[in-house]
Amino acid sequence: MTTTGPTTFRAKHVVPIEGAPIENGAVEVVDGRITAVGPAGPIASPHAVDFGECVLLPGFVNAHTHLELTTYADQLPTGDLWDWIPALVRQRALTGQFAREQDGIRRGAALALQAGTTTLADISRQHTAWPILCETPLRCVCFAELLCFAAEPARTIDELAEKVRATRTDARRSVGIAPHAPYSVTPRQLRDCVAWARRERLPLTMHVAETPEERQYIETGTGRLYELLAAGGFVEKNPPPRQPLFEYLAASGLFDGPALLAHVNDVSDAELDRLSRSACTVVYCPRAHRFFGHAAHRFRDMLARGINVCLGTDSLASNASLSILDEMRFLHREYPDLDVHTLLEMGTRRGARGLCMEAHIGTLAPGKRADFVVVPLHPKGSARPLVNVLESASQPLAVAIDGETFAVHAS
Ligand SMILES: [Zn+2]
Repeated sequence: MTTTGPTTFRAKHVVPIEGAPIENGAVEVVDGRITAVGPAGPIASPHAVDFGECVLLPGFVNAHTHLELTTYADQLPTGDLWDWIPALVRQRALTGQFAREQDGIRRGAALALQAGTTTLADISRQHTAWPILCETPLRCVCFAELLCFAAEPARTIDELAEKVRATRTDARRSVGIAPHAPYSVTPRQLRDCVAWARRERLPLTMHVAETPEERQYIETGTGRLYELLAAGGFVEKNPPPRQPLFEYLAASGLFDGPALLAHVNDVSDAELDRLSRSACTVVYCPRAHRFFGHAAHRFRDMLARGINVCLGTDSLASNASLSILDEMRFLHREYPDLDVHTLLEMGTRRGARGLCMEAHIGTLAPGKRADFVVVPLHPKGSARPLVNVLESASQPLAVAIDGETFAVHAS
């Protein structure tokens, strides 16, 4: 590997997360890795890029999305998840949708990059996002999804394993396992997925406690979800566990190691206590949460208990953009008392932690990969750089991954 000389990236404010914001700051990069962060004066190198009146932040981490659903933007009903899912299933069954979904993955990846995402955790049902995401500069974890009543593979863990084993990962792109949800994989499949992920040290993600109907189905085998699954012929072969939801999940080993639990919308105090004793991360998708009209998310109770909470956009089939910056701005408006530093951490470092990548990304610090985003300051906005970014509508000017910069919006 050839070594190139250092490049310095300067901005009016650098927000490293580790440490206070730096006015007239700079980040020095050698071979895609950060070598220094501090005031611009002492960091001088022959190659310098000055972004001027901007804030330079760690790149955003989107910890939950389904780019294959990009093509269903504005096509599905807002409101109840259990109206939305059958509508999605009907749309996906139409002829020609597979090619449209593939095209949507490409468009979605471009949109995510433009929005300042540098690391993306994407779930795809047939692991087909992998070759497409490898063509993009995004750092990504591609989660191969197991959904045992899907119309297409992978329906069994062997089919999924075959796809995952054929995947050649590298420093920027890795693979993970996604048993879809407690109601859509069998108890055996869930246990096998968890054991497989832990054995091979693969990231693991799952939709958990998304609605009260999910709990009702798992715990009592009744209700709207039961009716839906029974109508699809699913419950005959796979009867509901009829066990408390968190007991059922705990028995699979899910809480015995790191896992990204998407949503966790319907959760009790005792269950939050259980999560706080685990290495699990909760992915909160604020605007998708609003789209489905769920009761207020308990992310602040989670943070107060020391649970790692990060952010995801979910897909364009239930959200207006694939932008973590838009999620943070939404939360800043909804919860003006929420500390802005915590909010930025949820969109960066906490996502990196959830993906077990915090040693490499998520903050700006020497030794980490040079993944950052540059957002123009609003000239009339707050003097506090983070507040300025959160209260403006400015889109990122540039994004860097491994120190390679991409201009994403004209200034
Ligand atoms: Zn999802």
